[in-house]
Amino acid sequence: MLADLHMHSTASDGVLDPAELMRRAAHAGVDLVALTDHDCLDGQVQAEQTARSLGMRWVSGVELSAQWQGHTLHILGYSFDLGAQDFVSAIGIVQKGRWRRAEQIADKLAAKKMPGALEGALAVQRAAGAELHSPPARPHFADWMVSAGHVRDRAEAFRKWLGAGKLGDIKQHWPALQEAIGPLRAAGGVAVLAHPWQYGFTRARLRRLLKDFAAAGGRGIEVVNGQQPAEQVAYLGKLCNEFGFLASCGSDFHHPDSPWMALGKMSPFPADCTPIWVDPQFSR
Ligand code: AMP
Ligand code: MN
Ligand code: MN
Ligand code: MN
Repeated sequence: MLADLHMHSTASDGVLDPAELMRRAAHAGVDLVALTDHDCLDGQVQAEQTARSLGMRWVSGVELSAQWQGHTLHILGYSFDLGAQDFVSAIGIVQKGRWRRAEQIADKLAAKKMPGALEGALAVQRAAGAELHSPPARPHFADWMVSAGHVRDRAEAFRKWLGAGKLGDIKQHWPALQEAIGPLRAAGGVAVLAHPWQYGFTRARLRRLLKDFAAAGGRGIEVVNGQQPAEQVAYLGKLCNEFGFLASCGSDFHHPDSPWMALGKMSPFPADCTPIWVDPQFSR
């Protein structure tokens, strides 16, 4: 059983539309799939129709932004009711916040002699075929910075300007952990902490987060994010069991031109972890 429960479409910062993404996932041999755009549900209906028509098992998905102790976190939500109004409005509020954040990022870059960032990021997004009403995300700003000659590549854009703790890392629009998880659970959804390794936390801080995440109603952690090194997966698998979480896995696919991030391609799932998809709540 191949599960890929983390991927992005043009509804957020991916470059393939939801239907094309599902076709490629099916082609890669994925049996269970979720589209998890950042704070956006626009691609869900199209993804569901295509995934089911190709014989894949599909669950609703989203990657929610949240803040915890001054850090940006990502929470994967699964198997929620797409018609749950409170959850849909909570996401709408974050989308509006994302527009304000995009303007703020552009203002901050303009103050650093990089004018025109919002228009530039929107142009990058349009070129990828994105819906015009979805706000540009940091990767769109990064690609614009490269094309405008401000940085050599995307990695430099994040390292100098957009990454954690830098000018573009504006967190005030993200709900607190409990505020993000509450409406998701009320919509029948399951909360999974995305890529726990990626936050760069010390072991002690990561344990504090897992404790808070469980207390806030978190059900699982993503023990496998793409082709993550085996020792990281083993470490996360141990933490997962210790805290009584279920384990999830996903490629975190965004675009086809990075060979280390392909649909359905992930490091092996730890044999001693219980997969999130056995949770009865997951297969509603
Ligand atoms: P946003 O949703 O606007 O906060 O942007 C976050 C997204 O930026 C993540 O989901 C990744 O796709 C991308 N990202 C974050 N950090 C980096 C990095 N260091 N290098 C490249 N992409 C990154
Ligand atoms: Mn992303
Ligand atoms: Mn993420
Ligand atoms: Mn992601």
